[in-house]
Amino acid sequence: TQWVYAFGDGKAEGEAGLKNLLGGKGANLAEMSNLGLPVPPGFTITTEVCTYYYDHDNSYPPELKTQLDKALEHVGKLTGRTFGDAQNPLLVSVRSGARASMPGMMDTVLNLGLNDITVAALAKGAGDERFAYDSYRRFITMYSNVVLDIEHHHFEEALDAYKDRRGYTLDTDVTADDWKALIPQYMAIVEKQLGRPFPQDPQEQLWGAIGAVFGSWMNNRAIKYRELHAIPASWGTAVNVQAMVFGNMGETSATGVAFTRNPSTGERELYGEFLINAQGEDVVAGIRTPQDITERARIASGSDRPSMERAMPAAYNELVRIYGILEKHYRDMQDMEFTVETGKLWMLQTRNGKRTAKAALRIAVELASEGLISDEEAIMRVEPSALDQLLHPMIDPKADRKIIASGLPASPGAACGEIVFNSDDAEAARKAGRKVILVRVETSPEDIHGMHAAEGILTTRGGMTSHAAVVARGMGKPCVSGAGSIRVDYAAQTLTVAGETLRKGDVITVDGGSGQVLLGQVRMLEPELSGEFATLMGWADKVRRMKVRANAETPLDAETARNFGAEGIGLCRTEHMFFEGDRIVAVREMILSDDEKGRRAALAKLLPMQRKDFAELFKIMHGLPVTIRLLDPPLHEFLPHSEAEMEEVAKAMNASVEKLKRRAAELHEFNPMLGFRGVRLAIAYPEIAEMQARAIFEAAVEAGRASGEPVVPEIMVPLVMTKAELDLVRARIDAMAAAVAKETGVTVEYQVGTMIELPRAALRAGDIAESAEFFSFGTNDLTQTALGISRDDAASFLGSYTQKGILAADPFVTIDQEGVGELIQIAVERGRQVRQDIKLGICGEHGGDPASIHFCNEIGLDYVSCSPYRVPIARLAAAQAAL
Ligand code: PEP
Ligand code: MG
Repeated sequence: TQWVYAFGDGKAEGEAGLKNLLGGKGANLAEMSNLGLPVPPGFTITTEVCTYYYDHDNSYPPELKTQLDKALEHVGKLTGRTFGDAQNPLLVSVRSGARASMPGMMDTVLNLGLNDITVAALAKGAGDERFAYDSYRRFITMYSNVVLDIEHHHFEEALDAYKDRRGYTLDTDVTADDWKALIPQYMAIVEKQLGRPFPQDPQEQLWGAIGAVFGSWMNNRAIKYRELHAIPASWGTAVNVQAMVFGNMGETSATGVAFTRNPSTGERELYGEFLINAQGEDVVAGIRTPQDITERARIASGSDRPSMERAMPAAYNELVRIYGILEKHYRDMQDMEFTVETGKLWMLQTRNGKRTAKAALRIAVELASEGLISDEEAIMRVEPSALDQLLHPMIDPKADRKIIASGLPASPGAACGEIVFNSDDAEAARKAGRKVILVRVETSPEDIHGMHAAEGILTTRGGMTSHAAVVARGMGKPCVSGAGSIRVDYAAQTLTVAGETLRKGDVITVDGGSGQVLLGQVRMLEPELSGEFATLMGWADKVRRMKVRANAETPLDAETARNFGAEGIGLCRTEHMFFEGDRIVAVREMILSDDEKGRRAALAKLLPMQRKDFAELFKIMHGLPVTIRLLDPPLHEFLPHSEAEMEEVAKAMNASVEKLKRRAAELHEFNPMLGFRGVRLAIAYPEIAEMQARAIFEAAVEAGRASGEPVVPEIMVPLVMTKAELDLVRARIDAMAAAVAKETGVTVEYQVGTMIELPRAALRAGDIAESAEFFSFGTNDLTQTALGISRDDAASFLGSYTQKGILAADPFVTIDQEGVGELIQIAVERGRQVRQDIKLGICGEHGGDPASIHFCNEIGLDYVSCSPYRVPIARLAAAQAAL
């Protein structure tokens, strides 16, 4: 087996494709060597050695030593030096390098091979004693720290005491003689801490460092990181051993990092920083402030220290030449590390650079425009969920965050405002021109007006499909839900968290992208839907198969959805309209009625309002399909709850409080989500469905007349479990269609379909399809009913399920493919068997989740429907799924 892969001098045994074997760093060092770029020679010990090491009781393969010695000798030949030689010593760096960059592991040991003898040779060779002894003391501290596990502070204390004695303030005051005097003190520290002396033998140093890299693969931080990022322990890490080049050899030497494009804006420019006369750790440690690379950046930053472009023009031009080569070769933005040693540029690393969503978008589109990648590749380069960041205001990454609590990132974007604890206060404040954050334990349909009025919403209970989360996403309002560490006291109008109490009127900021709740006002950045966004969306639309619709009911939502490219409405939740304006009065009248006659009278008042709602929706959607769902929630949601509200409502309605209370008590349910709701309402009170059907048909006639084009409404029946239920409701709808046709002289074409949101409905999809022209999978309820997990109460325990790996993801966010997914597949299959052209879509929250969208594409759904602000995400995800 080949355990060691050499590189350097314009060739390499490895290449970029061998990332699994050589790790990211090793594979790219090999690739850069093959490209003929200046890479200090070295070799990579493969990840298989790491695996072997752990499979064989922390021991190495027997052939490793021979292979390593040979590789080391070769490096010596290329550099004209010998490892451990007293006159002309080869010094090396040792670095870890897993497949994916992995913080937590041992990172780097520099200057390895130095000892009391070779340090003198280094001083002589460089003609600089201070440089040599400074390098040696750096090596001793770094090696002691990461390999021998001796804490840094021991050395720092010795250095500080020494500097105090000499009256120095800066490290740069320390002379060669000072370092020479300090090094024996450092050695004494090691011996005291370790019980044996610092290893002088370069071979022992090297094997010690290699062992430390492999050992760090299993340290707690690395294990934790792998857990969080689903990286299997079996991958292992590689070790890179490479000839040292020195950025600290005086004023013509330097070290730095650079991106081939700006990682925060995506602009095409060499972007980065460098430090003259320094080693890599100095840039990272942040002790000295780095300088700009380009003159342009220096002018922009107003720095009075020279740019690399001015200070080292030859090395700078070489970096510019190389970055062009690397970008063309890797066809992506690169993040590079380099060192300049006495004027000569050396490349130490390159990799695809991390970037913000904004930069990802711009870079993908520009790379495609430059011809480096295809449009399809550009589509694949942008993470759909990252678009969220671009569509909402977000917290300035440079702003200070005083985090007081964390909840679920329920609806993206950030907002700040004064705390209010109820929806009426929110509305009043809004009218007075103030910005508020609505803070509730949880929200209900009664809070819609408050949510509209608020800049953002914070709840202390509820998951990703709780009322607050779903409605906020629909409105495009930032929302943090289920922030369980916050205690809300409605009576006192306060919230308490971490020992601190905030009052109504105090200002907080919610970051719905991260789930954080922050104290005070925080600086924001406004979204910018630039040209690249439209370009990429256009490319995505060309390749995707599935249509993308929106869940929307208000004209504003519908407009937003259209602006974001929605191709129809997949779910209009009519109950949301019942809270608009004074519709609620008529709704309550209907609920309080003693008989059908009374109900019909109240419904007659609602009819013109609903008709107007629907006509407006049809007008905005302009010939695109609109799916309207019949009333779904249990009726008690429309009644007031608190004593005070009851009295107020009773007075307004001219009814007695007793009656209101009695009716509320009658409607009370232990399990409202599994109770008197959905199609069950239409079965018991068909007059409600009839009124809604009439409103839909009359609106269709009206909108059709106005536009000259026929409107084809899709009427959807929720929570169906049997064909018989659907048949009963369907008969009423068909009868109403005939009646309206007779009255108006216009026959409206329409479809009747059902939601599949109960396991029984999925299993009996064959029967149901006989009466349904379309299915829309209501995966919020289907997840709730298939898993037996209440969507409103899941937050309290679901977290530990995902943490412990029992569930891979929150099933209310990403479809549980094995369970809920199979039910959907069964329904698709059985539905199509009976009705070949049945239209199939999804309108649960999963319709806006990229992973779930992939699944929907795979099983052949015709469309996904999601909240308006997620439409672009869904368009991109659907395109990626199709590629
Ligand atoms: C669903 O259950 O997935 C759905 C879309 O309906 P709602 O969220 O309104 O219950
Ligand atoms: Mg539902």
